Amino acid sequence: MSSTVTIRQPALSEHDTSARLTSILDIDGTSSDMWYEVPKAYAHWFSTDRADGFVVGFVLQAMRLRKDIVTLAPMSSKLWHSLTQFFIPMMAKAFPHLHVIRIAPASLIEETTLATGVAGGFSGGIDSFAAILDHLVDEQSPTYRISHFLFHNVGSHGETNYQEARTLFHQRYDTLKEYPELVGIPFVPVDSNIHEIVPTEFVKTYITLNASVPLVLQNHFRRYFYASSYKNEDCGVNNTDIVGRFDPFAFHMLSTETLDCISTGGQLSRVEKTRLVADYGMSHRFLNVCVDPSAEGRNCSTCVKCCRTLLTLDVFGLAERYSQVFDLARFRQVRQRYIEDAVLQAANGGFEYEILELAREIGTEPWADHLRRRQARTETLQKITGRVAALCSRTARIIKKLARSASAALGSITRMLKIG
Ligand SMILES: [Zn+2]
Repeated sequence: MSSTVTIRQPALSEHDTSARLTSILDIDGTSSDMWYEVPKAYAHWFSTDRADGFVVGFVLQAMRLRKDIVTLAPMSSKLWHSLTQFFIPMMAKAFPHLHVIRIAPASLIEETTLATGVAGGFSGGIDSFAAILDHLVDEQSPTYRISHFLFHNVGSHGETNYQEARTLFHQRYDTLKEYPELVGIPFVPVDSNIHEIVPTEFVKTYITLNASVPLVLQNHFRRYFYASSYKNEDCGVNNTDIVGRFDPFAFHMLSTETLDCISTGGQLSRVEKTRLVADYGMSHRFLNVCVDPSAEGRNCSTCVKCCRTLLTLDVFGLAERYSQVFDLARFRQVRQRYIEDAVLQAANGGFEYEILELAREIGTEPWADHLRRRQARTETLQKITGRVAALCSRTARIIKKLARSASAALGSITRMLKIG
């Protein structure tokens, strides 16, 4: 087995309705096509002069396999430095299954393209709409305003049956496309098999898989806003197996001289984002958060993400606004169980804990009262524990002082007796 993989020069091919950028990956004596595909009208967006997107799309898989990457195409100098000096060492330290590898590009390039596009993902979720509010609806700077929505198939639509995942990708695209049409922003589907070459868990690799898409489209995009899920306070490299907790400081490491990769959303909690999005009328018709594939691109109203979103809206008293996109009656059937199993048991740092804190603060239902009583009991216990600890510490100090005095007195008596 070779200790390297080779990523060959990307090549563009155009078909009846689509355009595909392909790079051959040589790994352990076999060659596989890695490809990204967009509608034919966008063929000129692909950058054929560099390996950036393919390297980033495959880097975590290569780290897992402990294989160095050789590229036969040039790479962005900035990206190569960020990957080899910061990103790879950081990820290898954080995740035991990843190893430090080297990347040997054919050459390094610092040229920028004439790209002007600003890409944002659009999935219809809370993070996505919060990013749209910041960088489209309320964005003041034209060079930062989202000009295109991208919709990726790089693993988020299923990991076991790739054909089913591809079908779901198209179903979800069809469900979502009305909103971009209404706001006049092109909504571009990008299919790929980058995640299928060496099957990998999407939850552990989505940061690089998602960034790889605008990186293969550098002839068109100068910025890419990536909607982060976690608030900054809950992010860090220690004690986490969730790659999403790296977004705020890792995502920009995937930038090049042309493309600025920007993580957005960490400035707000999920609960805060939900409240913000609830005032955006368009979201009442197009919010789409579901993770259940059997819902075929719609909201099932009972999966963990549907429940999380609906309960948050419910605590704010705003769930009815979303009656067009959720079956609220179905949600009511599972609501209590979700509260008991997920929210009341939630640990600090998770999304359900944010709902717990919100309910404790403003909830009007019995379970919110229960949370407040539980909090009051915890605080009382903490106070008692604190007082007992302070008392013990004071007592210890007094005993120590007494012991010192007794020892000194004993010394004096002994000396007196000797003198006598
Ligand atoms: Zn669902």
